[in-house]
Formats: sequence, structure tokens, C-alpha cells
Amino acid sequence: MSTSDRTPETGHYDTSHSIAVRRFHRTHGMLPPAVENQDVQLSRCLQQLSRREKSIDKYIYLSGLRNTNVHLFYRLVTKHMTDIAPLIYTPTVGDACLQWSHNYVQPEGLYLSYSDKGHIASILNNWPQHVEITVVTDGSRILGLGDLGINGMGIPVGKLALYIGCAGIRPEATLPLMLDLGTGNKELRDDPLYMGSRREKVSAQEELEFMDEVMIALNEKWPGIVVQFEDFKNPFPALERYQQKYTCFNDDIQGTGAVVLAGIINAVKKSGVPAKGQRAVFMGAGSAGVGVAKQIVQFFVQEGLTERQARECFWLVDTKGLVTDDRGDNLAEHKKYFSRNDNAGKQYKTLAEVVDHVKPTILMGLSTIGGVFTPEILTKMGGWNKRPIIFPLSNPSANSECTFEDAVKYTDGTALFASGSPFPSVVHDGKTLQPGQGNNMYVFPGIGLGTILSKATVVTQSMIYASANALSTALSPSEVAEDWLYPEIARIRDVSVIVSMGVIRAAQEAGVDRETRIKDMKDEELEKWVRSKMYDPHGETQRVEQEVHSFIEDVAG
Ligand code: NAP
Ligand code: MN
Repeated sequence: MSTSDRTPETGHYDTSHSIAVRRFHRTHGMLPPAVENQDVQLSRCLQQLSRREKSIDKYIYLSGLRNTNVHLFYRLVTKHMTDIAPLIYTPTVGDACLQWSHNYVQPEGLYLSYSDKGHIASILNNWPQHVEITVVTDGSRILGLGDLGINGMGIPVGKLALYIGCAGIRPEATLPLMLDLGTGNKELRDDPLYMGSRREKVSAQEELEFMDEVMIALNEKWPGIVVQFEDFKNPFPALERYQQKYTCFNDDIQGTGAVVLAGIINAVKKSGVPAKGQRAVFMGAGSAGVGVAKQIVQFFVQEGLTERQARECFWLVDTKGLVTDDRGDNLAEHKKYFSRNDNAGKQYKTLAEVVDHVKPTILMGLSTIGGVFTPEILTKMGGWNKRPIIFPLSNPSANSECTFEDAVKYTDGTALFASGSPFPSVVHDGKTLQPGQGNNMYVFPGIGLGTILSKATVVTQSMIYASANALSTALSPSEVAEDWLYPEIARIRDVSVIVSMGVIRAAQEAGVDRETRIKDMKDEELEKWVRSKMYDPHGETQRVEQEVHSFIEDVAG
């Protein structure tokens, strides 16, 4: 049975273990003799990494490390998060997925094919560990790369590595899960090395029936398991069908909404303009745009506006211009909530016209149109507002509605900025300015941890909102002073503790929690408890040492 890094035994081949531990594990003699300290191990890893030039080669090296010495891998990840995260997740994971079947050496997760229908429960029984959280995809919309079939396995694998590294979920409690339901990608089906089913993608109805069986089987085998949906081409049916019934969430929709909201909360605070004075123009009224706008409505309502007042702070723009009731087209269902009727019969066709009409305080980009926030528009934003809020969120960088450099240049350094893709820092008036990046890794690990620890039966919208609110409070005083909207990635474990506590409290308030031991804990005590539950790869050598010694003493005594 091979489950690579998901079995604790890979941790036995750790050169930091003492001779006594090696004897106990029966690995004595199987390892080079030196009992190494962890710093020596890490410096070897860093050297081996730096010798590889291409990111994909570093990724392959790191996968090998994870599969042969899981705790050392996570020591490396947690100690060097800022440098390693881009190698095990975006952007490198995109290349890893494109080449998945070609680079394949070991399983790394569980694959369920459409032909397994009717037998899913028995296949889950092959998995040797007790699972608390799974990330599941059908590979149909991997990042911005389209349908990659089972090559999308890199996403569940990479995301779970971040759950483990950022939020301290134990490696063996995680399950990367790939639903192999065929692929619409003909090039893949014709690739002799492709390792998924060579069939057209099943129908939406067939997929839903298959998912029903998966969800039932998962919850029978591991009751209350947290299921995180990822990179489904059409994510809404599954989320709507299961979110009241099982402990699940979709990071593309809910995690993204939360991370953007956290940035907006901090930007609104910094801007000095109260919620009721905010006017937000959204370029893009797709699923992301509308989803993000709705989350911000919830924040404005918390700030004292009625829902109607909050809704009226938004102007959405799509390919036909400002979304209005009298535009004379059949508005898509999801756009109706924000459709306006105060345009006095006038049609605003372009972003420039809408911006002149609204004079916004907030400019959001979820349109996929690179550069649409032009120098003229940015200059106007800077003229109207002391601190304009400018969030070009489209990915990848080439699709970003503007660069950080332009946002700084045309607003004379006043923009409160966050983007979807990373941008380099910019020097303005002798000061180095950092762009915010609305990276989902700020929230999903903490949502997972908080949900697991509270034993929540479902993931409520209030828990998602709480994750955003908690993230917005996670900045250090110096980060706040420097106008950052998100905390430093190097502090991600502390951030995840704060996010998870927000999620736990929201689960308790909603009454969906089942962990009774923490119900009456004060925050300080809860924080201690959360930290005590987190996997700490640096303490692992010591923990095993103690375990082995007390076992030997028990036997001797
Ligand atoms: P989508 O459903 O395709 O929506 C795109 C929207 O932009 C639609 O409303 C579309 O108008 C509008 N649009 C496209 N081209 C336009 C043009 N030339 N002029 C005016 N409007 C135009 O896509 P989505 O899923 O919402 O995602 C949008 C973007 O958000 C993507 O680039 C994605 O990378 C980004 N995103 C970022 C994050 C993040 O930062 N973490 C998370 C999620 C998504 P119509 O409705 O008229 O077609
Ligand atoms: Mn995704």
C-alpha cells in the first residue's frame, strides 16, 4: 500500500532521530550514521534547492522531499514560507499540473473515476488514514489553465500542503481527491502519457449523481469530514446542493470573497470615508464580481447601513456598460441584485463614462481585461479621493486591470491597493511601497482549521464572513502604519490562528459547533488550545523521542 507522505512512516527516515529512536523504528543502520540537528538538515535542503534553476525542478525536488521525509519538508515550508509557498502552490503548481502525467512518479492522493460509480465506499476503504479534511476537484478549471483532467491533482496536493504548513493540520489527516470524470481537453486524451480516463467529460447531471455518492461515502467513512471544493468549471450546483447538508465550502467562491473583503475592510478604515460615503465601481459583473460585491454589502450592513443602502453603493459594469434595469437586454439572473434604476434613462457604455458619472471611492477589477484602469481613470481617482481604493483583481498579472506601478504613479502614491496577482514593490518619493495581494492562502487554512476544531456540522456564511473580519484584524501595528492591507506571509501561522478563532466563534454563535470542551473558553484560553492542536513539524523530532522513551519505560517498568 503506497500513500507516500500520507503515512507517518515516511517520518521515520529522518536523520534528526536519535539512535534510540532509530532502534525503535527498526531504521537503525538504514540511515547515514550522523544524528543531525534540524538546522543542518534545512541548510542541506536549501542548498539542494538553490542548485536547481527552474521553479518546476524545485517543485519536483520538494515533492520528493515531502514523500520521503514529510516532517523535514514541513519544517522547510514553515521556516521559509515566503520563498517556498510560490514553489509548492501558485504560480509553480500551474506548470506542475500542465506536466502532471509526464512528471508522475507516485500517487500522492486518491483518484475516483466515473467507472467506479457504485463502488466508491469500498475504494475509500483503501485509504489507510483517518481523514479530517479533503480538497476535491474534477480538474475542469485549473487556475486559469482550463480543463486539465486528472493533471489537476497538483491543486489538491498543493492546497493541502498549505493547510498543513499554514494552519498546522496534521499531514496524515489530509486527503487530496481527484474526480476523474473524463476531460474535454482533446490534446490530453490524445497524449500517450496522460493518466486519466480517455473519455469526454460526463454530463452535468452524471457528475452531480457521482458527487452525491462521493459525499455520502466520505461522510460515512469519516463523519464530519471537511470537504473543500476547488477549481470546478461550474462550482455553484455542488455548493448549493451540499452546503446545508455537509461540512463543505468552495474556496474559489467563498475564500476569494473573504480575502478580498478583508482587504476592503482595512482599506475603508484607512480611507477615512465611512461605509455610507463609499461608492464602488466594479469593472466585471461575472461570478467573481457579483460574489465579491455581495460580501462587501454584508460589511456595509455591519457598519450600520440598511441592505438597500448598502446595495446602492455599487455600480457594476460589464461588456454592455453600466448594469441598469432599462438597458433593454435580458439581464443575467446574478446581475439583477445590483442593477440600477437611477440612471434617468441615460446609458453609460464605457468604464470611463461610468467613472465620470459616479466619481467612485472604490474601483474594483474582476473583468479579465488587462490595463482597463487607464492612466486617465487612475489620475481622476487620485484627484477625487484622498486615499482611492484600487483593487485590480484579475489574474494572471497580464490580465490585471492596472499594475501597482501605475496605481502609485497616477495617484501620487495615495492608492490603497490590492491585486489578485503579485506585483513588485515600488519606490515613490523615496519610500518603498508594498502592494497588497489578495491571496486566498490568508483565509482557507484558517477556515479549515477552525471548522475541524469546532467540529462544525456545516460551514455557514457567518463563518466565512468571520474569517474575513478576523484576517482584517491580523495586521501588526507596523503593518498598519505602513498602510498594508494584508499581513506578511511569513506570519501566516499566527494569522491562521486568528482566522480560525474567528471561524470557531462564528460556528458557536450559529450553533453548528459540536466541540463542547471549548464552548466556554475565554479568547486567551481558546488561543492556547488552538495552538496546542496544531501540527508543529519543528517539535516533531522531540515529540517522537518522548513517545519512544515513555514507551520503553512502560515496557521496562
Ligand atoms: P467571468 O464570469 O467571465 O466575468 C467577467 C466579467 O467581466 C463579465 O461580467 C464580463 O461581462 C466582464 N467583461 C469581460 N470583458 C469585458 C470588456 N471588454 N468590457 C467590459 N466588461 C467585460 O469571470 P469571473 O470568474 O467573474 O472572473 C473574473 C476575473 O476575476 C478573472 O480574471 C479572475 O482571475 C479574477 N478573479 C480573481 C480572484 C482573486 O483575486 N483571488 C478570484 C476570483 C476571480 P459580461 O457579463 O457582459 O460577459
Ligand atoms: Mn481555485
